[in-house]
Order: sequence, then C-alpha cells, then structure tokens
Amino acid sequence: MISAVLTTQPVHIIGAGLAGSEAAWQVARAGIRVVLHEMRPDRMTQAHKTDGLAELVCSNSFRSDDAANNAVGLLHAEMRKLGSLVMRAADVNQVPAGGALAVDRDGFSAAVTKALAEHPLIEIRREEIGGLPPEDWGNVIIATGPLTSAPLAEAIRALTDESALAFFDAIAPIVHRDSIDMSVAWFQSRYDKAGPGGSGADYLNCPMTREQYDAFVDALIEGEKVDFKDWERDTPYFDGCLPIEVMAERGRETLRHGPMKPVGLTNPHNPLVKPYAIVQLRQDNKLGTLFNMVGFQTKLNYGAQQRVFRTIPGLENAEFARLGGLHRNTFLNSPKLLDPQLRLRAAPRLRFAGQMTGCEGYVESAGIGLVAGLCAAADALGQALATPPPTTALGALLGHITGGHIETIDAGPRSFQPMNINFGLFPPLATAPTHGPDGKKLRGPEKSVAKKQALSARALADLDGWIGDSLKLPAAA
Ligand SMILES: Cc1cc2nc3c(=O)[nH]c(=O)nc-3n(C[C@H](O)[C@H](O)[C@H](O)COP(=O)(O)OP(=O)(O)OC[C@H]3O[C@@H](n4cnc5c(N)ncnc54)[C@H](O)[C@@H]3O)c2cc1C
Repeated sequence: MISAVLTTQPVHIIGAGLAGSEAAWQVARAGIRVVLHEMRPDRMTQAHKTDGLAELVCSNSFRSDDAANNAVGLLHAEMRKLGSLVMRAADVNQVPAGGALAVDRDGFSAAVTKALAEHPLIEIRREEIGGLPPEDWGNVIIATGPLTSAPLAEAIRALTDESALAFFDAIAPIVHRDSIDMSVAWFQSRYDKAGPGGSGADYLNCPMTREQYDAFVDALIEGEKVDFKDWERDTPYFDGCLPIEVMAERGRETLRHGPMKPVGLTNPHNPLVKPYAIVQLRQDNKLGTLFNMVGFQTKLNYGAQQRVFRTIPGLENAEFARLGGLHRNTFLNSPKLLDPQLRLRAAPRLRFAGQMTGCEGYVESAGIGLVAGLCAAADALGQALATPPPTTALGALLGHITGGHIETIDAGPRSFQPMNINFGLFPPLATAPTHGPDGKKLRGPEKSVAKKQALSARALADLDGWIGDSLKLPAAA
C-alpha cells in the first residue's frame, strides 16, 4: 500500500505542536508522505522552551480521563480508537493526578518526537514558513498554534481579510516540592478519587482560614500587574483560562467556588476544622519534584507573585521553578472562513488545525489535528471522507469550529470564541434517560449523570459505526 501512494505529492504540515504532530502521524499512517515544517529551535515562540515536538507550554494535564462521564475523557477515548500518537505518548508518560491524565512533559514530547522522526514517510524540516506556502504545495495543513510567527500570521490575515482575534492565556506557577511545608500541607485528591496512574492522594493541599483568604484576595487585587503593550489592551479574556486576580476581582467568593473550593478534602493536621479555602498543587514531572499551582494562571508581575503566593499557608518558603506569565492567542473566525473539512474556503489547498481553528486545549488541538490529518490523507488519495458524526466528541468539536456557532460578524462584532470540548456541543439525545438501571425514577443530579453517560455511550457507538462505514484509509481505522 505504501509503495502505491509514494507517487502522490506529500502533505505539507506547518507547525509540529499538538495538532501538527498528530496530523502528521495520521497522514503517514494512511501511507502518504509528509513534510513537517517546525521553526523551533531556529525561531522560538514566547512560551515554548525546547526544540521538542508537541511541547506542552503550560499545565502538564490532559484533564479528566473519565470517558463515561466527562467530555474530554470521551475525546481521549475516541482518539485512542483512531490510533492517536498524542494519546499513546500521553498514556506511556502519565504521572499521578487523581482523576486526570497528567504527563511527564519531557517524556511526552520526546516520545512524540521519536515516533515522528523514525517514521519512514515523515521528513521533519526545522524551518520557519514566513509567508503563504508556495503554490505548488497542493495539500497543506497549517497548525502553527496560538503563537503563530508574525510573518505567517500576517500573510494569513491578508489572504482572509479577517483580523485575527487575540486574548490572554496565563501560565500557572510551578513550585519545588521540597520547599513546601508538609506540616501544613497534605496529599489528597478531591474525594480521594484515584484516576489513571493515581493513588487517590495525588494533590498537595494548602488550607486557608477565612482571615487568610480575605487577606489573600485583597493582595491579589492590589498586586502589581504586568504592563500591557498597546496591542494587548482591551483584549477579552477567555473565561476558561481567567487569571486568578481577574477571578478575585469578579467577587470575593469567586475563587472559593472555583480553583480554591474547599470541598472533598479533609486536613489531617486539623481534621475538626474545615478550611475556608484550599489551594491545590498538582505533580508536574515524573520525578515528583515539581508541583504546579492548579488554576493559578496569572498576570501579576514576578515580584508580586512571589510575595502574594508565599502568604499561602505551606508555601511561605516556596521556591518557584517557574512563575506565571502572559501570552497572546491567535485564532481564525473559522465558522466563516473554513469549510466542514477545515479547508480555507478562499484557498482550499490550505487546511487549518489546532488552536488556530478556535478549539481550546491540548487535547482538543490534537483532536482537530487528527481530523485534519485524516481529511488531508483522504484528499491525497482522491477519496471522499465523511467527517465524524456530530454525536461524537470529535464531530461535536469540529461542528463548533466549522459551523456550530451562530456567527454575528455581519450584525456586529464577531462572537466566535475558542471552546473546550463539553457536552453542551453535542446534539441532544432522542430520549433522555428517566429511570436508572434499577428501574427507579432519576432525580436532579442523577439525571444529569445519566444523560452524560448516555451521550458518551452514543458517541462511542457512533464513532465505531463511522470507523466501520466511512473510514476507508489504509491503516487509519
Ligand atoms: C501560554 C499558553 C498556555 C497554555 N496553556 C494550556 C494549558 O495549560 N492546557 C491546555 O490544554 N492548553 C493550553 N494552552 C492552549 C493550547 O491548547 C496549546 O497552546 C496547544 O499547544 C495548541 O496546540 P497547537 O498544535 O494548535 O499549537 P502549538 O502546540 O503551539 O504548536 C504550534 C507549532 O507551530 C510552530 N510554528 C509557529 N509558527 C510557525 C511558522 N511560521 N513556521 C513553522 N513553525 C511554526 C511553533 O513553534 C509550534 O511548535 C495554552 C496556550 C498558551 C499560548
């Protein structure tokens, strides 16, 4: 099969991050040659630190791995069914993280790099593509991510006549484990939940009294922030990645109902006193020497971060391996610009993948890379490929990007925003479950759990059907 398709033109993939790496793998699995262009290490972005492919620039978490109850866990399961390289590398590099799938970031990136570098159909070129791809590249995937280099971003903007929308993502600080005071902090996962590779005691928890919490909220609000550059002013935040001090500004209780919620945890140092708020830290590397502050993305300046975060009980002497930071994001107005197969309507030889398309998150970016890879391979083979059904997580995400959003560009400011996968993107069930397996009528929260489980079961069945009926690429299914 491979020799039969060696004569076809290669698929050129620009950007070897989460999306580009997964796309390259899927195209090569289908027996098509790939040229993968990655600008690092010659030119770095503001967030990447290494020359590794699929580098994780912030958190080391792929979030929940629960396919039955959680939409991102379902996305994991679908990607595994489709032979995802990103999921394979994540699975073999997982570190304990309660119900989440978290990875050793260096091991993960090294595994992806090795698999792609050793694939006989993939050529990796370390070069920046500084403008529109040459006309003789007939089948291109652009997966250059939220930090797309300026010359390429400018060329795309000129081609699409759309101004890219920028907003802030903020990096959460990382703390050396041995600088955390364990006479104050303790290990426990919320509700003692043990996830893949976890023990039920994977998070480090720092408790706060009401007085400490109040003072902390004040300090966050008053802390010095990073100066904004002109182009960063008036840029809206994405709600899923709000800086901690912005959350604090939204209301005194906001943090206590968000990343600092004190539920499902008991302080063994003082079991009778319920903490008013809790800061959680999650393991960040395989050795267990580094822990990141969960949900503490921030735009406080470095001095303020050290001062304010060291008021957290247990972190008085914290040594920071990395402090939080600010970064821009770039994404297309995809519902208007892209067709259902992620091709630019104005220039169909150019397909987009990853965060540039308006999905949000590592897993989602890789998932859209996977779909883009399958579509590009089908194009190369002259096959028509139906995209995954909208009832699947991959199809629901694709639907959000290429058409699920109600576009208001003509009526006023554009409203398309990046989105994590969530059950709200799935078409409703024909019949919502009303009774449990025991025949009892379901109520409130039970109903919602049963609905999610039914959506997940439908998604996995429909994906199997799609793989059997539609996915005719060599080796893809
Ligand atoms: C600062 C920051 C923090 C984030 N934190 C998280 C997080 O904690 N969790 C999460 O799930 N998501 C996070 N995201 C969101 C997002 O999911 C990730 O950025 C993800 O890596 C996007 O995948 P991607 O493949 O689209 O882009 P990337 O993984 O960024 O890959 C793009 C690649 O293209 C290369 N490139 C860029 N321009 C060119 C060019 N002209 N020529 C050649 N190569 C080029 C880059 O070097 C890079 O390797 C964060 C984003 C940012 C910016």
